[in-house]
Amino acid sequence: MKKAHRIEGLVQSDIRRMTRECMRVGGINLGQGICDLPTPPEVLEGTQEAVREDLSIYSKFEGVDPLRAQLARKMEAHNGRPTDPDTEVVVTIGATGAFAATCQALLNPGDEVILFEPFYGYHLNTLLVAGVKPVFVTLEPPNWTIALEALEAALTDKTRAILVNTPSNPSGKVFGEAELSLIAGFCQKHDLLAITDEIYEYILYDDLKHISLATLPGMRERTITISGLSKTFSITGWRLGYAVAVPELAGPIGLVNDLFYVCAPTPLQHGVARGMARMDDGYYTSLRGIYQAKRELFCGALEEAGLTPVWPDGAYYVLADVSRLGQNTAHDASMHILESVGVASVPGSAFFRSDVGQKMVRFCFAKELSVLEEACERLKRL
Ligand code: GLN
Repeated sequence: MKKAHRIEGLVQSDIRRMTRECMRVGGINLGQGICDLPTPPEVLEGTQEAVREDLSIYSKFEGVDPLRAQLARKMEAHNGRPTDPDTEVVVTIGATGAFAATCQALLNPGDEVILFEPFYGYHLNTLLVAGVKPVFVTLEPPNWTIALEALEAALTDKTRAILVNTPSNPSGKVFGEAELSLIAGFCQKHDLLAITDEIYEYILYDDLKHISLATLPGMRERTITISGLSKTFSITGWRLGYAVAVPELAGPIGLVNDLFYVCAPTPLQHGVARGMARMDDGYYTSLRGIYQAKRELFCGALEEAGLTPVWPDGAYYVLADVSRLGQNTAHDASMHILESVGVASVPGSAFFRSDVGQKMVRFCFAKELSVLEEACERLKRL
């Protein structure tokens, strides 16, 4: 049996492969961004009620009314983008599902999309499956600064969109106002769509502020804002995400979402809507504080271990330079760490085309404190 052309050359993500390797040796999994913090009780209770009430049938393909209402409220209060819950929100199977539906709904085979490197492999592969050509703009550590010349150099007459993941996986880069303005100007000048992935929007460090590209002048009409509930409520396995865009763009995304998935799981949608309605801003502030403490602990331990981290400004991953371990490739370094001290990471090569990734691994520090402390002790023994 021959597989379809559209998946030729695609291999299983190293993120998932390392989870299997980690299970094999019974290690601590700092590879996949699993996020095993406790789910807020409001969300759990809301969902238990929804299951008991047997809210079990299909929802509208764009999602249940109470969740879209909550998301629209959140988009205005947190992101600064007033949103119509009926025409501008599509609830999806995770942010990954939102991105897949967006690509299928709005891009044609042969189109090009600008992707920053280091990239998140699921973005890359979803574009490839859609027949879209990714064009990379490489950013350099530690600041991952964007230059307009680099954007202009990536442009061709086939460029249709740019992807902005802020805070970024795996770099932890947070796009500030100046860089977003530059991107906004670039999109308008060349009539491009902007597809954002803002799933880590509540996880920023120090006093940094999350800015949604859709709120910049002239960007509302051309931006698809993607996010999800996984990371904010530690429900990565529930697979709830969403896309927000003007009706002309949200409509086609909803159409594809219906075709591929029909709708996201309804009791979970109701549960999250109830949870969100019962929580106040204190939850989100405390989430930041919790991750800030984990970042200090874990990046501090990496420094002590001589695995120099590029401190992230947001999200809960860190790229660390593992040259000290004297391995030839990032894959070897990652396996060496797993086999010698039982801590899983993801080889940096999963996020780079260039060799820069070969001296790095990505750790995820979204772990219970006691587990993270144990991982720190183990890494120091390397
Ligand atoms: N987003 C998470 C990561 O980067 C998980 C992705 C996945 O498991 N496919 O690790």
